[in-house]
Amino acid sequence: APTPAHATFKASDLQIDFCRPEQLRSKPPVKELLFGKSFTDHMLKIYYTKDSGWGAPRIMPLQDLRLHPAAKVLHYSVELFEGMKAFRGVDDEIRLFRPNMNMARMNRTAARSALPTFNGEELVALLKKLVSVDQEWVPHTESSSLYIRPTMIGTEPTLGVVRPAEALLFVILSPVGPYFASGFKPVSLLADPRYVRAWPGGVGMMKMGSNYGPTLEIQRQAEQQGCQQVLWLFGPEHRITEVGAMNIMVFLVNDQGEKELVTPPLDGLILPGVTRDSLLTLARSWGEFRVTERDITMGEVEQASEEGRLIEMFGAGTAAVVTPVGEIHYQGRVIRVTKEGQKESLAQRFYNTITGIQYGKVKSDWAVSI
Ligand code: PMP
Repeated sequence: APTPAHATFKASDLQIDFCRPEQLRSKPPVKELLFGKSFTDHMLKIYYTKDSGWGAPRIMPLQDLRLHPAAKVLHYSVELFEGMKAFRGVDDEIRLFRPNMNMARMNRTAARSALPTFNGEELVALLKKLVSVDQEWVPHTESSSLYIRPTMIGTEPTLGVVRPAEALLFVILSPVGPYFASGFKPVSLLADPRYVRAWPGGVGMMKMGSNYGPTLEIQRQAEQQGCQQVLWLFGPEHRITEVGAMNIMVFLVNDQGEKELVTPPLDGLILPGVTRDSLLTLARSWGEFRVTERDITMGEVEQASEEGRLIEMFGAGTAAVVTPVGEIHYQGRVIRVTKEGQKESLAQRFYNTITGIQYGKVKSDWAVSI
């Protein structure tokens, strides 16, 4: 076991190798930013070995990794990642959004992935430093942001199916453009009960890469059928669990006639989203309708739609905050999410509130200046 002194890395041990001027990249125009296609000038790297624990954090020019072909990540998917953002506020200050939530999730995933844990506050301090080194990459327009991708991989170059004795934590940054170029456009979903994303006793609640690779073919099938995203179902009763890589929320009039915001409970099948938690917290603080974490089936959604009680459905996640759902393709039928006679949708209200905090227009301790 590592000595306690190396059970975490320390932000105070940071070394920085700045890019030379000729190594600096040109920044693509914000309009042309596609998700995850361009990267900033610098990255953060921290090595770990079982014998000496965590090494000193290092910020350096963005560069390829060198891995032995036997590195465990390449064979057994010993990998995890996080997704968070930095926002340039209307006051030009750069803020993170609830970064400690990502750190807690990253540590839970590390523990389950046979990867080393660390002190989340130290990594937040390093993320702030990395973002400030590349601060010119944080877009100067509202609705665009700098995506932060902390990643950890098992690097030990041996083929045994055992816990890696070596690991690498790295962080890369990618400027991302407005998700809704033409405003909120509802997406259509494919709900095909033949496929599941997560199962009881599994790792659906963890943010490990091995959960995502197997979804890509199903996403292709959705697109082939004219849908934009997959609605992941589970069990014989076709419980709805998540949409694409987002949590799902359903706003309906329930069979008691009350307005209710429903999202599936954190029962192990659901990734505990930072956005999910934030929207639940906001809605509970408003106290205007019931807010419930409970199972909800396709049968309930379809019946609510038929009876005109399905007010809204939307995905919730860091990428877009909220993504409204227009219709669900399910077993040869199309379930429409009706939304008549509403002034401002709940999705729009959530979006405005969260982005207001992220861009420094609304004071909140969820926004953390770098
Ligand atoms: N579900 C899944 C499967 C995800 O990958 C994500 C993205 N992290 C989310 C939900 C939303 O989580 P967050 O709000 O923290 O981005």
